[in-house]
Amino acid sequence: MSDEHPPHGTDEAPRTDEAPRTDEPQRVVGPNDEHLPTGLDPYTAYDDFNLPSYVGSTTFQKLPLLTDVDVLAALRPDVAIIGAPLDDAVSNRPGARFGPRAIRAATYHSGSLNSLQLDIQPFEWLVAVDAGDAPIVPSDIDRAHAVIRRKVLEVASSGAIPIVLGGDHSITFPSASAVAQAVAPRRLGVVHFDAHADTANNTWGNLRSHGTPMRRLIESGAVAGRNFVQVGLRGYWPPPETLDWMRSSGLRWHLMTEIEERGAEAVVADAIAQALDGPDVVYLSIDIDVVDPGMAPGTGTPEPGGLLARELLRAIRQIVAQVEIAGMDVVEVAPAYDVSDLTAALAHRCVMEAISALAARRRDRGEPPRSARPSRASGISGPGGG
Ligand code: MN
Ligand code: MN
Repeated sequence: MSDEHPPHGTDEAPRTDEAPRTDEPQRVVGPNDEHLPTGLDPYTAYDDFNLPSYVGSTTFQKLPLLTDVDVLAALRPDVAIIGAPLDDAVSNRPGARFGPRAIRAATYHSGSLNSLQLDIQPFEWLVAVDAGDAPIVPSDIDRAHAVIRRKVLEVASSGAIPIVLGGDHSITFPSASAVAQAVAPRRLGVVHFDAHADTANNTWGNLRSHGTPMRRLIESGAVAGRNFVQVGLRGYWPPPETLDWMRSSGLRWHLMTEIEERGAEAVVADAIAQALDGPDVVYLSIDIDVVDPGMAPGTGTPEPGGLLARELLRAIRQIVAQVEIAGMDVVEVAPAYDVSDLTAALAHRCVMEAISALAARRRDRGEPPRSARPSRASGISGPGGG
């Protein structure tokens, strides 16, 4: 397929002077073109990427669905979205298995988005795809974790940064383990936003609970305890014995009370330094319940007194601008408890802030843009740009 496509979503007039290709629909119109061309066939004037977000493809931002590992390896995307629809490991309200679909759907924009925060159109700078879901079935956590680990490893081995949509927080054990394997011998640090430490040894006997993934990552050697940094902890858990284990393992954590006193930006700066004290790259894990339930009600274990949505989005920009991200997840979105899709929208924006900051990082380092355009329903037209 051709790899030369006109940019979309720019201020340029649509290229009506170009001869339309005969092998696919005309794709010259973006959702907000300043000058609407005349004479186009309305049936084919907009491609899927530029149709409204509620029409057509249900992938993340209508990015091409690309599940084949060989195609992925050949394309070498910069970023790949993965769904991990699992909630068998929760200790309280279930429902996060529906998180990936809700997050993918929680947008009212299509086409080449423009980040006002970072003054960049990320999809003009990065090859981003949706790699689909890990093939999870219910009621078998061991199996679910195995297929998540394989899926994330396939994506990370292609060179793409996996951004995993949970799912309950247990998915961070297989996901971050896979990323640690893919980046070896480089070492991985973790910055973990959460109301909860998720460092229990077990939860009612379950070693793969959503209350235990950070313990498993450290015990397995995937991440050194001293490079595991937690931000936003509050409430009434874990108990003193678990905090003792965290201390003895070298974990560092920043309570919500510290953020109240020092401000989120200063605390996040410390967290970055601590996560990178030794390792080369960082895995960013975002439990949406780090945000106050007033702004993120759609989650299984809401804990009052959390971050503002804007503080979390700013923190993501701050981290991705400063460190090399090797993987990321956004977890614990449970749409059944949500109000007006607010929590899903916040989780979606967490992903977009990271993608936008990755693009800005590329620009600010003087690296050339890459971009790839969706092509029809079936896949991708290949990387263009430089
Ligand atoms: Mn958690
Ligand atoms: Mn939590």
